[in-house]
Amino acid sequence: MSDNPSSLGETPALFDVPPAATSKGTIRVVHLYPREMSIYGDLGNVKCLATRIRRHGYEPEVIGHSPGDPFPVDGHLFVGGGGQDSGQARVEEDLERNASALRDLAAAGSPMLMICGMYQLFGNAFVTVDGRTLPGLGILDVTTQGNATRMIGPVVLDTVVGKVVGYENHSGATTLGSGQAPFGTVVHGHGNNGSDKTEGARTGNVIGSYLHGPLLPANPALADLLIGLAAVRATGRPFEPEPLLDPVADEARNRQVRRLLGG
Ligand code: GLN
Repeated sequence: MSDNPSSLGETPALFDVPPAATSKGTIRVVHLYPREMSIYGDLGNVKCLATRIRRHGYEPEVIGHSPGDPFPVDGHLFVGGGGQDSGQARVEEDLERNASALRDLAAAGSPMLMICGMYQLFGNAFVTVDGRTLPGLGILDVTTQGNATRMIGPVVLDTVVGKVVGYENHSGATTLGSGQAPFGTVVHGHGNNGSDKTEGARTGNVIGSYLHGPLLPANPALADLLIGLAAVRATGRPFEPEPLLDPVADEARNRQVRRLLGG
């Protein structure tokens, strides 16, 4: 894959479609901590974004950011995944070093999708089940407490892009601050804490969610929301999407909704 600009060189087929003859512009996707924070298929979110960016006629550039790397402040779309508590502890220092860059990018409207462990670290703090506090960036006003009982299983949400499906597996129970909007409302599953029916959090263009799966291939409307925001930032022009059909993803999502909700 000589044309693959990703530092994830060992990952086969990051892009599933060839580049368009003429590109509408380059969209830089920054994958935060691909080695430490990417479980339960979360790499699929990056692959989905790269592939859909090409299908929309833009050129994706994927930058894997690892602890110690210079921070790619010129990224247009930032994605992070889940990880063990130990993985979270390994990225903590680098996250702290780049906290002001990430806060500035978030405040300036950069789209970001942070799943599970990275969602927790974009909040105020994550207190692990053994009592260790991992301070977060405070970009999302959420606080997470680890528990002995994990919240595991399939999830259906109502969100701004309609029904969203995914899979959760976390010990952390997350509480939203009083003014913090959730990402979605739980229709099936546990969500942030198993009790208040909220799932994830959204502030501006920053979305945090517990949903693995991976999330974006099964929910392409969410992928396109993020790509559209990134395209505007990358080109200075309105998003110029192609009319994409996603029959397999739509069928998979609709079946999962029917299976879990009945009807
Ligand atoms: N370690 C965190 C928890 O269990 C995050 C888990 C994950 O990212 N799947 O709450």
